[in-house]
Amino acid sequence: MSDTASVKVAVRIRPLVPNEISRGCKEIVDVVEENEQVIIRSTDKDKPFTFNYVLPSHTPQHELYNRCVQPLIGNLFKGYNVTILAYGQTGSGKTHSMGTAYKGEGEMGVIPMAITEIFDFVKDNFSYDFTISVSFMELYQEVLYDLLSSKTRDQCILEIREDTVRGIHIPGLTEVPVQSTSEVLEALARGSLGRVTGATAMNSQSSRSHAIFTVNISMNTRDNCKENNKQAKLHLVDLAGSERPKKTGAIGNTFKEGININKGLFVLGNVISCLGDEKAQHGFIPYRDSNLTRLLKDSLGGNSITLMIACVSPADYNVDETLSTLRYADRAR
Ligand code: ADP
Ligand code: MG
Repeated sequence: MSDTASVKVAVRIRPLVPNEISRGCKEIVDVVEENEQVIIRSTDKDKPFTFNYVLPSHTPQHELYNRCVQPLIGNLFKGYNVTILAYGQTGSGKTHSMGTAYKGEGEMGVIPMAITEIFDFVKDNFSYDFTISVSFMELYQEVLYDLLSSKTRDQCILEIREDTVRGIHIPGLTEVPVQSTSEVLEALARGSLGRVTGATAMNSQSSRSHAIFTVNISMNTRDNCKENNKQAKLHLVDLAGSERPKKTGAIGNTFKEGININKGLFVLGNVISCLGDEKAQHGFIPYRDSNLTRLLKDSLGGNSITLMIACVSPADYNVDETLSTLRYADRAR
C-alpha cells in the first residue's frame, strides 16, 4: 500500500461493552497487528483485510491520535485541506473516536486532540497571523442545517453553492471565531445539542445524520508578501450509521431515512474508491451525486488528505455489519 496515498484507512475495533459481556456475546474479530490486518473468525469468510492502520480493541484514544491523525495535522499549515471521516454502524465507536461528545473527563478523542495541537502550533509560530474559525453542519435526508446558528431549525437550512472563483461555498453559514481549545469545544458541545437523533430498535441515541465540524485556518504572513498567505480547512465528520434499515427494524419515515443516508454513504464510497484508483483519478469523480460529497469536494482528493476511521464492533451478533464496514473500507484504500 502506498504511503503517499491521499486516502488512508484506519480500522478501529471497539471492546465489547458491559451489556454485551453480560449477555455472553463472543468476540469474532481477530487482528494481525504486525500486518495491519483484520480477520473475521468464521468458517467460510476468514479472508484477511489489510488497511493502513488496524487498531485492536485495547487501543487507547491517544494511540489512535498519535498514529493516524497527528501526522496529518502539519499539512494544514502548508495550506492543504484535511478530512477525517468516522464510518461504521451505530454503536461501533464513531462518536467515541471523534470525541464529539467530550465532557472534560477521561481521554480525549480526535477532535479535542487535533484542536489542542493546532493551538499549540499557532502559539509557537511567529511568521504568520492566524485567524481560526469553526462551523458545524448537519446533513439529514439531504437537507443541510447550520448547527451553530441561533435561529430555529427550519430557519437555518443552508444551500451548497459552487462557482469558479470561490469553489464550494455555503452562503449564510455561521462561522464562529475561536482563540482557544476551550472555545472550540464549547462550539462543538453547543452544536451537538441541536443534532437530530432518531430512536431505532438498535440504539435509542443512534444518529441518522452526518455531522460535519470544520476548522478554518487563515494564515497571513507577517512579511507582507501576500503570495505567502495560506488557507486550510480541517473537516471532522461523524457519519450517519452505516447499518441497513432492515436490521434496525425501522418503519415508515425512518426507513426512508435509511435509504437516503445510504445514498450519501454510497456516493462517498464511490468517490473515495475513485480517488484511490490511479487510473480513475484523472477521470470523472462523482462528487455531485450527493450533498455530502458536494460539500467535501474541495477537501477530498486533489491536494487534500483524507483519513477514514472505520469503526467496527467485535461482537458475534454484529458480524454482517462488521463485514459490510470492512468491505466498504477496503474499497477506499
Ligand atoms: P457510534 O457513534 O458509532 O454510534 P459510540 O461512539 O456512541 O458509537 O459508541 C457506542 C458505545 O461503545 C458507547 O458506550 C461508547 O462509550 C463505547 N465505545 C466505543 N468505542 C469504544 C472504545 N474504543 N473503548 C471503550 N468504549 C467504547
Ligand atoms: Mg455516534
